[in-house]
This record gives sequence, C-alpha cells and structure tokens, in this order.
Amino acid sequence: MAYIAMARKWRPHSFQSMVGQDHIAKTLQNAIEGGRLHHAFLFTGTRGVGKTTSARILAKTLNCTGPNPIVPCGECASCKDIGGGTPMDVLEIDAASNTGVDNIRELIERVQYTPMIGKYKVFIIDEVHMLSNGAFNALLKTLEEPPSHVIFIFATTEVNKVPQTILSRVQRFDFKRLTASQIVGRLEFICKEEGVQVDPEALQIFAEKADGSMRDALTYFDQAYAFTGTSMNADAVRSILGIPPNELYFKLIESFENHHIKGAFEMVEEASAIGVEFTPLLDGFSKFLRNLLYSRLSVSAEELGVSVDFFSQLQSTGEKLSNGDLLRLSKMLSDLQAKLSRAQNPRLLVETTFARMAWLDHLTDLKRALSSMAKIEPASNEVLKKKVVEVSEFIELETQEKNSSWTSTGAKYSRYELSSAWNAICRDLSSDEDILFAATLNKTNLHTPDLESSPFIVQLQFKMDNTNESSWAHMQFSQNPHFHERLSQILAELLQCPVSLQVEKRELTSEEQDEIIQNSKSPYEKDFESLPILGLLQKMYDTELIYSKRIPKVFDSTTDIDPIL
Ligand SMILES: [Zn+2]
Repeated sequence: MAYIAMARKWRPHSFQSMVGQDHIAKTLQNAIEGGRLHHAFLFTGTRGVGKTTSARILAKTLNCTGPNPIVPCGECASCKDIGGGTPMDVLEIDAASNTGVDNIRELIERVQYTPMIGKYKVFIIDEVHMLSNGAFNALLKTLEEPPSHVIFIFATTEVNKVPQTILSRVQRFDFKRLTASQIVGRLEFICKEEGVQVDPEALQIFAEKADGSMRDALTYFDQAYAFTGTSMNADAVRSILGIPPNELYFKLIESFENHHIKGAFEMVEEASAIGVEFTPLLDGFSKFLRNLLYSRLSVSAEELGVSVDFFSQLQSTGEKLSNGDLLRLSKMLSDLQAKLSRAQNPRLLVETTFARMAWLDHLTDLKRALSSMAKIEPASNEVLKKKVVEVSEFIELETQEKNSSWTSTGAKYSRYELSSAWNAICRDLSSDEDILFAATLNKTNLHTPDLESSPFIVQLQFKMDNTNESSWAHMQFSQNPHFHERLSQILAELLQCPVSLQVEKRELTSEEQDEIIQNSKSPYEKDFESLPILGLLQKMYDTELIYSKRIPKVFDSTTDIDPIL
C-alpha cells in the first residue's frame, strides 16, 4: 500500500476533530443550525493552522444530505464528491498563481451555474491577498449580490493586504496558532492510532519546531517516521530535524563555568561536524538557557515539557550559576542572534562571542554574598556583622521601594533611581521642541536629599566649572520661569508624585576638578603616570614613547568584540 503522508491521512473531516479552533467551529455550527448563514467568509491566520481544511469541512457540512446538519456523514453523494479528488460543487483556487482579472472573470462565469449534487456551489480562494486590484474589483460586484446557491470562502495569511471593500462584505474568522500542548496532544493521539512508540520529549521537539502550525508538526513527524519507523526517541528526532543534542549545550555551559575557551570552540566544531547550522544551534541554546532558568524556579519537568532525567540534569547544572549569570548570557546570546545574519564570517562571530561568554566572571548575587559572609565571620567581629546587616537592610529596602513604585503607581522611575537616571532623562528631553530648555539642562546634576519628603524635594544643580557654558545655562533657566514649571511637571509625571524643584549653583569639588583634568589627558599621558615602568624603559633605552595600548583583562558583555580576539 502506498504511504499516505500523516498530514493528509489525519486531516480532520469534521469540526469536532479540528484542534485549537473551537471558537470558530462553534460559531459556524451555530450559524448553520440557526439558518443564519453568511454567503462569504474570510479565514485568516498563520500557515498550517487549518484554514483550508476548515473551508473544506464547511463546504462538506453545508452540502451533506445526512441526518446531522453540523457533522458531515461521509456517506452521501455530496460527501463522497467533496472527499474525492476533483469535486464538482467545490472549486478551489490558489490566488498566488491566479492573480489576474481573467482568472476571476472565469470564476465569476461559473458562479451562475447551479450546483450538480449538493445545495451550494462553494468557491474557496486560498491566499486571497495575492489577487491584483483589478481582480478584487471584478470580484466585488458578485460578492455584493451573489446567487443564493453560492458560498465564497477566502483564506489568507496576510489579512492586512486584503482591501477594505472586500473585508466589509465578508464574515471574518481569526484562526489561532496552536499551543505546543495542543500539538503534542494531537500527535499523541495519532501515535496511538498508528502504533508508534514515542517518548514525550520527541513530541515536544516536533511541537516546538512547528511553532504553532499543525501541518508543519505533521510534516516533521512524517520526516522522522520515515527513518525511525514505529519506535521514535528524542535523540533520533533531533538528529533527523537538524536540532542540536542537549549534550552540546551542557558541554558549552561547563566550559563557560570553567572559563575554558577551547571547550567552547570544540562545541562549535562538534556542532558543525554533525551538520547543525548556526541558526538552529543558537535558537536551541536560547531555549536551553530558558530551561535552565526555569529549572531554578519552582517549575516541574512536566510543566516545562521535558523528561525527568533531562530536568534533573538541568537542575544540577543550573545550581552552579546565578540568575544574573543566566540573564547576562541570554542577553549576549540575543545580541549574537541579531548580528548573525549580517555577519561576513558567522563562525568567527559565534566563536568570539562564546569566548567572551567563557571569560565572563561569575556575577555574584550581592545578597547571597553578604549572607555567606555573615555565616563565615566569627561572631566576635561585631563591626563587620553590623555592616553586613546594614547593607542587607538597605538592599531589601531598595528592592521594596523599586517594586512598589513600579507596580502600584505606574511611575517610570523610583525616587531612588531618579538622580542616576538623570542623564537618560536629559537624552530623552534633547528631542524636545524647545531646544533652549533642553540645552540648559546639559551638564546639570539632580540631587535628591530626602527620599521621604513630601512633596518630593529635587535639587537641580548647575556645576560651575571654568567654562561660561554653565553660567549661561543657569542664567537661562533662572530667567525663563516656564522652564522651572515645565521640569517640575516632567519630574512629577516620571515619579507619579508631587515634586518641589529647587535650583542651585554649585562649585566643583576638588575631586571633580581633578576628574576634569584627568579626562583632558591623552591615554598615553595617563598610562605614563600610572605605569612607572614606562618611564624606566624610556630612560633605559633613551627613547620616546609614542603609543601605548592596554590589553583588557575582563570583557564586558556590552562592548563589541575586542580587537585582541
Ligand atoms: Zn454527507
């Protein structure tokens, strides 16, 4: 017997066996039962979620002469006609290859003929958004006054490209993407019917790769089935679908933990040796990191949709990392994913990023570090102990404050954050229509002397350096009363509380003056000051130092790839 693809074999034949589109099935059934049937429908949604299948089921249901008005019998002449290869009462057109006016004129000519077997002649136009403007216009008149025996069903993945004139004449149904568990459920059912032994993780892999499309899930299932037959496990499925095995990711994380760059490079080599491309490699890694993060929270293996063995492996790996580590790795990874498609040498980019990840020092969770310090230090060290308690309390307070100001009031910044966020706020204001207003705020500081005050006291400080710029800015701000009012309003909005704004001039402290002098020095001059050995070399060899370059010890995740790599 010829092999029939699963997607075809297990295509639903009634609304009852449709997965994930209950809302649509129910509305259509109610309309049929109540005799309130529209003559034109638009089915919209992403690919592979059952739009054309539903269109066929609807055509079949409407024309069936069997006893149940909402479930096609599969036995009557019409059901057999529509179930066969070239039905007489259902005409399916793919608009992607029939975009022109002539195609639609031809179709319209057929509209006048009455159905041969059933009650309705059903026209299904797939990917309807591909029709030309002329074709849409030709269709419009028929759509306004169709013969009573005609039903139109349009399907589209891009409803935004369908003209409003068409949209206003159809009944629209939005198909949902299927959830992973809906896909897994359906595959489980099919496996049972087909006598296929499969582990849950393998089904999860199909569902994840299908990304909401039942048709894709069945295609992948077919692909695997052709190789594995009736016994399917996760590893085999991964290798057939070109999905990297989890072992690779465990190795990668291990090499990061040990700052072992060579191990990270070996992983890239291993992946390319088994034919895994970079995009699925990184996608898989991002899922892996997410799973690691989840395994640290109170989530079960079942909820995460992974096997118990894999889950306990995740947990023991996740223990060695902090949430901060994982979030930092995730951030670097998503930056890498964004850059990958534009990279001239993707492999180099992946390797250098992995090297940077391996070089990352572990982020230490401050609270955890403090609590371990409190444990280790002998009780006699009262001063240190007191300090630890103070700092812990401060962190606690700050966390609470942040949480409360974010969640309860909808403020953009908390009182604690305001002064450190001031530069960012000024940047936002620099696109302000009033250029003068924004310009005066350049080189100012915000000081918040009393976090409990009400109204909240905010001091705007003009730093008086040796340039005329600061005095000019201060003068402008003082002479334009509406600047004061405006800034008070902006701050009140950001903090969601009343603000009392005080403006003051401030002389620079000696440290700030030193900093300005330091910043005006060249890197060469700075190096010369901080590294006495350079002076010594200059003396020894009677030479002049014209260029120096520092080799960074630790790489920052926010910087680009360092030239040393
Ligand atoms: Zn029937």
